Amino acid sequence: MKAASRIDRSLTRQLTFAVVLIAAATLSLIAGFTAWSMSRVDDHALTQQTGFANFGLNEVIKNLPVEQTSSTTWDEAVRRVREGDQAWMKDNLTVWMASYFGHDRVYVLDPKNLPVQSMKDGALVGSDSYAHDSAVISPLVSELRAKMQAASGTAIDSTAAITDLGAEDIVLFDGKPAIVSVKPIIPDTPALSQTPGSEYLHVSVRFFGTRLISQIADEFALGGAHLTLQPEQGFWIASIPIHNMAGKTLGYIEWNRARPGLDLMEEAAPALALGLFVCILLGIIVLRRLRRSAVALEASEAQAHYLAFHDTLTGLPNRALFEDRLDQALANVRGGNGRLALLCLDLDRFKNINDTLGHPAGDELVRLVAQRLAKTVREKDTVARLGGDEFAIIRLGIKSEQDAEQLAQRIADQMAKPFELMGTPTYVTFSVGIALSHGEETRRDDMLRSADIPLYEAKRQGRARYQLFAGDMDDVVRQRRRIESDLRGALASGAEIGVAYQPLFSADCTAIVGAEALVRWDHPVHGRLPPELYIGIAEERGMIEQLGEAVLRQACTYAQSSSLPWVAVNVSPVQVRGENFVERILSIVAATGLSPSRLQLEITEGVLLEDPETTNAVLAELRDKGIRIALDDFGTGYSSMNYLRRYRVDKLKIDRSFISELGQSGSARAIVGAMVDLGRALGLTVTAEGVETEEQRDILALIGCHELQGYLMARPMKPGQLNAMLEPPYVERQPLVHHLHEI
Ligand code: C2E
Ligand code: CA
Ligand code: CA
Repeated sequence: MKAASRIDRSLTRQLTFAVVLIAAATLSLIAGFTAWSMSRVDDHALTQQTGFANFGLNEVIKNLPVEQTSSTTWDEAVRRVREGDQAWMKDNLTVWMASYFGHDRVYVLDPKNLPVQSMKDGALVGSDSYAHDSAVISPLVSELRAKMQAASGTAIDSTAAITDLGAEDIVLFDGKPAIVSVKPIIPDTPALSQTPGSEYLHVSVRFFGTRLISQIADEFALGGAHLTLQPEQGFWIASIPIHNMAGKTLGYIEWNRARPGLDLMEEAAPALALGLFVCILLGIIVLRRLRRSAVALEASEAQAHYLAFHDTLTGLPNRALFEDRLDQALANVRGGNGRLALLCLDLDRFKNINDTLGHPAGDELVRLVAQRLAKTVREKDTVARLGGDEFAIIRLGIKSEQDAEQLAQRIADQMAKPFELMGTPTYVTFSVGIALSHGEETRRDDMLRSADIPLYEAKRQGRARYQLFAGDMDDVVRQRRRIESDLRGALASGAEIGVAYQPLFSADCTAIVGAEALVRWDHPVHGRLPPELYIGIAEERGMIEQLGEAVLRQACTYAQSSSLPWVAVNVSPVQVRGENFVERILSIVAATGLSPSRLQLEITEGVLLEDPETTNAVLAELRDKGIRIALDDFGTGYSSMNYLRRYRVDKLKIDRSFISELGQSGSARAIVGAMVDLGRALGLTVTAEGVETEEQRDILALIGCHELQGYLMARPMKPGQLNAMLEPPYVERQPLVHHLHEI
């Protein structure tokens, strides 16, 4: 029980983990994508800004000579410079350039390249200013003079040849970059002419100062643009280099880079945060719901588990748990921890109480008895209810037979007091069979049989008494050895092993839908032996495969030759786990010629317990071939629900013990009903076995059970008898209910 809820708790944890993981993955995906697109937008903006900045820079460089020519290509200018008209030059060529175009320095040079007028920062200055600047300007002046000379050659008038000539570059003045442009001063009409070499030159200088840069920055929205010689590298800063004609970098224009993606994020941040908050809130709500339903599932599973191990009427351990405890106790005994006593109790004439006082009184009595028994033993002992009015007690730490008898006497004393049923004191008596563990080899089945024998003996002797197993336990061991060797012989000869067929009916009992094959061993000395007696031995001693396959071969051969729709064969968990199980089954089926779709294999939950993966693979392979799988004795094993969820079977056979309680206790009907619902919900065929009364049959038909099997309709029979039942006139009689004698 603990293990199961631990598994479920880890399921809850896994579920939570998965949800959180998915949420985190989704969120980081969104965040990642957002960051990525943000940076894409920002990068794109940077490329655009850089493009604009370069374009603006080229524009101002290109514009400088154009601005010069507005004054230098002019007859008037040629005339006035020749005349040395300082005032005119100031108003049209130098100071005017500063005030109108923002040129920082202007020089007018005569044909010998000597300054005629010099202007600096909007004011006229002496010729020594040019002397200072000529270091960087004169290479350009010489370059232009050379070009002009080359272009005009031997012409009388140079004007036409030199109109478009000029020299410009970016240079450093005292470490500060500036654009320098040199243009010839030329006439704009044929009225004036100049001989080559007689031209005056006009030099304009523009620094990369605030005015020039803001001219670019204002046009293209480059915030905070300025000149720098050493650009910063930063998240918020961008720059372009300023090259001279030779490609040398003389400085940089730097500005605050636009980040529209980030701006957008900032604007959207509150909305995003709100969205995120809502998502997280929703996530938490969903998670809590999930947890709550997982907890509810756990609880219901724990309850199902409790139901699987406890008797609903009394709350005592049921047969499954009892067997488990007995196994454990016997293992302890083998470990040398004292002996144990098994007491099997049976209420005398319980049926009379049910018949005279009614079922509710019967239920009440069972409950009261359970309470008194539980009080009589210690915590570490086990009191279980095995069936209707059958109880069993496992008593640990027994030293002698007297100890066991004393306990039996104490129980008898307790039971001697009247039970209050329906307001009337009622006296009941008990028969008790007692067995003591003996030696190393005591097995659960041996113990149970050893307690059953004296129980029946007690009943036979007139009830209301306890009886100790008289025989020697060693007898039991010896008997097992004998069975083992007899079975070996029987399997070798093949003569004593036969198969009986018990038909299964549709819920309305009008048709035989199939039959279960049951092994029958006719012992030459002891006669017919019950399968329970030797199946376990065959399993333990390595004979179960031979036995099971003998039954399978006979059953398939019979089914192949008859009109039976299908035959079901029991397989032991030991067989399923054996090597080549699937191949062995398939080869037998193939050898008999039976269509696999007419074969069903009945397995018990025991087979599902170990190595679930292999088992699942085995089942899947068989089902692939068309063989159907039925889960036998459903409800007696361990947490059947879990297995049904995990394994794909075709059919459920609800165990006899549940069916036998139908009509006896109200809760049995609810439990069987729940099993049928569960089976139907999973799309399985639901079968009830051990149907003995009409009441049981009617209830089962009513609650939706598909197939019925039991002594009420038919006992296991010989093939010939089943053939007779399958013949048409027989089958069509309705309803088909037989009370044939068991073979
Ligand atoms: P089982 O698989 O639960 O088979 C049904 C048992 O219930 C059969 O007992 C059948 O005779 C009995 N039964 C059917 N209807 C009723 C009813 O209305 N009331 C009562 N009280 N019993 C009913 P059987 O033939 O004695 O077999 C007992 C068990 O032995 C089987 O239980 C099965 O577990 C095992 N067994 C039988 N044949 C084989 C076999 O070929 N291979 C293996 N591995 N096990 C087998
Ligand atoms: Ca069966
Ligand atoms: Ca069964």
